[in-house]
Amino acid sequence: MGKPPRDGQGEATRLIRAGGAKRPLKAVTVSPPVQRGSTVLLPEAAALYDPRYVTYGRNGLVGHEALVEGLCELEGATHVQLYGSGLAALTGAILSLVGAGDEVLCVDCIYSPTRRFLDNFAARYGVTSRYFGARATAEEVMAMAGPTTRLILLETPGSLTFEMQDVAAVAAAARARGIMTLLDNTYGAGVLFRPIAQGVDVSVQALTKYVCGHSDVFMGSAATASPEVARKLAIGTRDNGWTVSPDDAYQALRGLRTLASRVARAGASGIEVATWLAAQPEVVRVIHPALPDCPDHDLWKRDFKGANGLFSLVLQPASETAVNALLDALELFGLGFSWGGFESLAIPCDIQLKSARTAEPWTAEGPVVRLHIGLEDPADLIADLRGGLDAFAATRGR
Ligand SMILES: *Cc1c(COP(=O)(O)O)cnc(C)c1O
Repeated sequence: MGKPPRDGQGEATRLIRAGGAKRPLKAVTVSPPVQRGSTVLLPEAAALYDPRYVTYGRNGLVGHEALVEGLCELEGATHVQLYGSGLAALTGAILSLVGAGDEVLCVDCIYSPTRRFLDNFAARYGVTSRYFGARATAEEVMAMAGPTTRLILLETPGSLTFEMQDVAAVAAAARARGIMTLLDNTYGAGVLFRPIAQGVDVSVQALTKYVCGHSDVFMGSAATASPEVARKLAIGTRDNGWTVSPDDAYQALRGLRTLASRVARAGASGIEVATWLAAQPEVVRVIHPALPDCPDHDLWKRDFKGANGLFSLVLQPASETAVNALLDALELFGLGFSWGGFESLAIPCDIQLKSARTAEPWTAEGPVVRLHIGLEDPADLIADLRGGLDAFAATRGR
């Protein structure tokens, strides 16, 4: 390749050669080009096996490199590994760090597909897992650790119910015993919380959520500042052949540019809506660590720079029919899983919570609904929720 078509060459040859010549970029743009490529062309035969060259596109090209640099900046990391989804980042990082005979200790409020992976897939490969309470102290976590404990998984605030852990204390105690720590930092998104600065070995994010930010791309990242952990993550990816498309890497990089502004706006609107909800008669309490009466507020204030737009509420005791009447009456909130996009979303949580807590069964005064507050005007969202609560009250009273 590299040479343009010549007179006398056949049509097929000419079509393959044309436009393929190596050339400098036409002009410098603000963002890197989307560079598609499986095969990478090397300048000379000796370069093909020279480790100083990029020799294949699977590890990513210019867009990936720019995204990884941006994510290192976001997480305070020296190495970031990209994966095809947030769940793939969690499972991929776990698979890269543990082996047969190892034990994982995991917080009870972990994203439930992570729990499913540990209990089923990882177990088949000889990795066992046990769960500790969503608010367990470092002493309680370390009291569970045994000679085979290799990795501790944290998620703060936790999925659906937002319990918080004392990350710095757990990370320091684990490190003292030679146990690695991995934290699902999807809530913190790097702009609100930096686990590596707290002593955590691996910070994983579902970039699908706030970083990509538009509900149209799947991607995940595992970030670390430890050369040894970085090596393990890179080997896991190399040996399994995991890869991320250049178009998706471009979209993630684009999302990263506006991440701080979007999270700040969603967080401020979220607190406004949560504060209003807490005063409504149909609501027993709002589970939002930024609200002063939330049991995790002190930890949140100590560790987090702000809130995002995600929180839950506990409704007055009611039937599933009444909860569904609330959700079905909403016009601005979409009914859908995921979060972190520009739009507001709502889901009922009780079906998930029944099976997703094993260290301490979930109990609450009434049904739990999770809301994601998007970038709409908060006054409109509040009016929409008032309509939902009216439908809830009407159905509940019947
Ligand atoms: C959504 C989510 C994930 C998984 O991300 P996907 O890209 O959907 O696979 C992981 N952890 C948390 C906390 C999440 O909310």
